[in-house]
Amino acid sequence: ELAERTTMLSIHILNVYANQLALIHRSRLDPLTELLNRQTFDTKVMEIVSDDQFSLSNEAQSWFLAIVDIDHFKRVNDNFGHVIGDEVILLLARLLKNNFKVDDFVFRYGGEEFAVLFYAKSDSDALHILECFRKNVAEYPFPQVGQLTVSIGYLKLTEVDMVASLVNKADLALYHSKNNGRDQVTSYLDLNVVEKVQNDDDGIELF
Ligand code: GH3
Ligand code: MG
Ligand code: MG
Repeated sequence: ELAERTTMLSIHILNVYANQLALIHRSRLDPLTELLNRQTFDTKVMEIVSDDQFSLSNEAQSWFLAIVDIDHFKRVNDNFGHVIGDEVILLLARLLKNNFKVDDFVFRYGGEEFAVLFYAKSDSDALHILECFRKNVAEYPFPQVGQLTVSIGYLKLTEVDMVASLVNKADLALYHSKNNGRDQVTSYLDLNVVEKVQNDDDGIELF
């Protein structure tokens, strides 16, 4: 009888443990898209940057960060309602998942904003990968809504950058895509604002 009670108790404890694990797993995911959520993003970037593999200079590939934002998404909500808006976000999440590799990481970073941590051989290789994705979105027939586009900013991850500074740089590249007519990809490298942003105290004029 003691053995039976011990078994029951073990099962109970294991159940509690399993539920706990399920909760931890679910709290990493965005409920609508089942992509990784923003809370997971910082941890993942720090993991990647502090990984021993990261600093090996003979690595043929590097990690890149891209921020993807749906163009004029407010119009989708205004014209078709929030339910269709949510569906667009879900479909875009699926397009992202299909366009990147299984070992890349796709996050829902904000409402209609996504972050991708992906592996590429060079800045131009990263551009090629992101251009493919941008075109796939532009050609995708979204039910009811029809055609939609995304703007993208990206850069290579380096160990000297803090997470906030990486996101800030990707955002600057994204703003450039937005201000330049949307439906395009901008590399942070092409902005030529590196020294200005860091050294100029008296008013920064980026655009
Ligand atoms: P831009 O091209 O400059 O990015 O314009 P935009 O309209 O996409 O940008 P803005 O940031 O002004 O609007 C984003 C909108 O996304 C505002 C908000 O109501 C909507 N949104 C945010 N999260 C969700 C969501 O989960 N579901 C739906 N349906 N809408 C959302
Ligand atoms: Mg937008
Ligand atoms: Mg936005």
